Amino acid sequence: MLVEPPVKAGIAIIGGSGVYDLPGLSNIREYKIYTPYGAPSDNIIIGELRGKTIAFLPRHGRGHRIPPHRINYRANIWALKSIGVKWVIAVSAVGSLREDYRPGDFVIPDQFIDMTKGVRDFTFFEGGRVAHVSMADPFCECLRKKILEAAARHPDIRIHGKGTYICIEGPRFSTRAESRVWKEVFKADVIGMTLVPEVNLACEAQLCYATIAMVTDYDVWAEKPVTAEEVVKTMRENTIKIQRLLPDIIELLEDEPRREECSCCRSLETALM
Ligand SMILES: [Zn+2]
Repeated sequence: MLVEPPVKAGIAIIGGSGVYDLPGLSNIREYKIYTPYGAPSDNIIIGELRGKTIAFLPRHGRGHRIPPHRINYRANIWALKSIGVKWVIAVSAVGSLREDYRPGDFVIPDQFIDMTKGVRDFTFFEGGRVAHVSMADPFCECLRKKILEAAARHPDIRIHGKGTYICIEGPRFSTRAESRVWKEVFKADVIGMTLVPEVNLACEAQLCYATIAMVTDYDVWAEKPVTAEEVVKTMRENTIKIQRLLPDIIELLEDEPRREECSCCRSLETALM
């Protein structure tokens, strides 16, 4: 017998490094969700913000317990889908591969390059049904626009509306040689370890997904060594900024994505064999 989940939330925030909660949430409840893929990174926090029901999930678990290559991405996306989520705003910390994307800046990527090593579970379609989902435009254009619209209310937040996110396996950082390849050969703009397969799975689940990449430092190509203290300070400032920005994005989102404006919720119509 299928049991209806005890709660519904239209919008989910996946918190990255440094973002483990969402201030301003009221009527907070916490749910442990079971999925066919095992346990999500943590219990899902549900609360109200600006009149909407929001689900919050810390990607690495509270206390930052789970490294990028061990995150159960399928359980996370499945859990959010199971409670009725339509919009996923994913927050992550990244390194910058360009001079003008400075520490403290936010980037809303429109493309990604997958340099993970294939050991992550990156699809829900393991056989039985075969699907090849289009990744030409991997992010929800509608959600990307809403994020930029909300950011315009915050002149102190430097935000870039385009960028290519290169996702490496981790948990180690790049060598100098790798970093130069990502920058000069691949022309990527920011680098991180968690976007893939979160974005693929969100697409397969027909969710509207976009990511806010918060720059913590320049990647190693820049030959600008930073202390852990400086990185922690930038991350702390980024966390404060994102916590001010998220409520404004939430306010702008409608209950249902408009089918004429975005194709995310129809991603499987052309993908199933
Ligand atoms: Zn969409």
